[in-house]
Amino acid sequence: MLEHVVRAGSPTQAEIARQTGLSAATVSNIVRALTEEGLVELTATVSSGRRAQAVRISRSTGLAAGVDFGRSHVRIAIAALSQEIVAEREVRVRRGYPAAEGVAVAREVFDELVESTGATRADVVALGVGIPGPIDTRTGLVGSGSILPEWVGAPLEELVDGSFGMPALIENDANLGALAERTWGAARGVDDLVYIKISTGIGAGLVVDGRLYRGASGTAGEIGHTTVNTMGPVCRCGNRGCLELEAAVPVILERLAASHGADLTIDRVLDLLDAGDVPARRVLDGAGHALGVAVAGLCNLLNPSMIIVGGDLARANTPLLDSMRGVLRQVAVPSAVEHVRLAVSELGARAQVLGALAAVFQSDHNILHLTGELSS
Ligand SMILES: [Zn+2]
Repeated sequence: MLEHVVRAGSPTQAEIARQTGLSAATVSNIVRALTEEGLVELTATVSSGRRAQAVRISRSTGLAAGVDFGRSHVRIAIAALSQEIVAEREVRVRRGYPAAEGVAVAREVFDELVESTGATRADVVALGVGIPGPIDTRTGLVGSGSILPEWVGAPLEELVDGSFGMPALIENDANLGALAERTWGAARGVDDLVYIKISTGIGAGLVVDGRLYRGASGTAGEIGHTTVNTMGPVCRCGNRGCLELEAAVPVILERLAASHGADLTIDRVLDLLDAGDVPARRVLDGAGHALGVAVAGLCNLLNPSMIIVGGDLARANTPLLDSMRGVLRQVAVPSAVEHVRLAVSELGARAQVLGALAAVFQSDHNILHLTGELSS
């Protein structure tokens, strides 16, 4: 039952009974015993309009940490096992930083954050890490196609374990976005969803039947390298006319260079869009069209109930999603897209670090590890 509480955050006793199949009296007895041991605590809440008591893991049982490595940032968040975020910080790092340097920066910030909560390193019992690229689940090495090219082939599992002194759950950033939106954001309670992260590259996190789908070696969701233009330019991956060459941030900036200059940033593009700038709208329209073509194929294959756009373009809501919707209507199997909801990320730049925490809370391996620690 402790596992269930860690997974669910702070369920009410009635919810625990419903989801575990135990009787209300049994749940109540177990909760009383766990409360006496100091493992869980009860807090007042409201459920279906009535006062109820939520059960959550005690703060004293430990902390979990999430780390998000980006092209030029490292973001860390610390949470209690009750899923309450207790500290969070982002630091900028130079572009092209190697994996070992990234891990060292993460450890430094992690130490400061843990100290700021009044806890110690020993209180942290689980660690989740996100990277903007594939991680080979068999070898623990960073795979090719990462937008941190300096990291390809780096033994990330080993580096993190060596620095933090504990094994980490490592996952690509799009998968973490999907988990975070499902736990805390736009897709709460949705069992079949696709999260598309658009930044320097484009990747997708797939949740199928309530579980993350990783594929045979962990590289599922590389939607950035599906062909949307058979006569398009050759991509860094060797393929031709990839989605990434039509809708990723560097391409959008390049396409606007003639009208707005070469030193444009994506934030500025989004401001221009809000101000009704025509070239910005046209370029985002084009990106949405290319996204729609790739997503139509995904909808035909997976029939998700929700598509969430996250990353740097999430703020471009209107032209991007409208354009995607139009293409889906034109080229996807009608029954596959009839009920699909398109939305932008609710968690924005925090999605990946929160996803690293969600991954820890929901992983079977980590839950067993946590509850093993807790009950020993
Ligand atoms: Zn490609």
